[in-house]
Amino acid sequence: MILVLLGPPGAGKGTQANLLETDRSLVKLSTGDMLRAAVAAGTELGRKAGDIMERGALVPDDIVIGLIAERLDRGGEGEGFILDGFPRTIAQAEALNRLLAERGKTLDAVVEMQVDDDALVKRIIGRFTCANCGEGYHDDFKTPKVPGVCDRCGSREFVRRRDDNEEVVRSRLEAYHAQTKPLINYYAKQGKLKSVDGMAEIGQVRRAIGRALDGSA
Ligand code: ADP
Ligand code: ZN
Repeated sequence: MILVLLGPPGAGKGTQANLLETDRSLVKLSTGDMLRAAVAAGTELGRKAGDIMERGALVPDDIVIGLIAERLDRGGEGEGFILDGFPRTIAQAEALNRLLAERGKTLDAVVEMQVDDDALVKRIIGRFTCANCGEGYHDDFKTPKVPGVCDRCGSREFVRRRDDNEEVVRSRLEAYHAQTKPLINYYAKQGKLKSVDGMAEIGQVRRAIGRALDGSA
């Protein structure tokens, strides 16, 4: 199964993608994570992408399309892939169709997570993750049970994304509305779109996505 998670920054795509890995034996493919890894590694691609990401703008299509193509060819996807943060433009969606067709695959479903802009800013500004295992936390909504210690792995090191500050979040939302939102219509026309309420609690969203996918099977 090939699945796309669509929605604004802070909608909870990463959280639900992690849960889908468990629930459906799928492998998450996040262009944001791949780009951050390239920035951390200091590769040429990372240097190109880093400045753009810090402004909250979109990295050029050919860069992210190249990353996706490489990852598709590496295989090891179990029951399939969940795409998180890709496609983000119509050109990327068209490239995805082509990449999948060339490999004898098709896109099964697109799950849109609907969240209000105001909630998004609040969700993003307070979030942080465990530097060791990647577990997600939030200053207001989900703090570690023992302050300063990761619930899942016991690590005491946490990280915040450089682009998770109010000014950059506003730019990321603008980029979403201008460049990514048209994909909702694009996929609705193809009969692939399933919309879920991303404002609900994590477990409820998880079940809503489960129902949406089973309805499509
Ligand atoms: P979020 O969804 O919270 O904004 P991501 O981790 O998906 O976070 O993306 C972070 C940044 O990485 C984006 O603001 C953008 O600069 C870049 N990026 C990630 N995916 C893409 C993509 N498919 N196309 C262009 N830029 C991307
Ligand atoms: Zn941890």
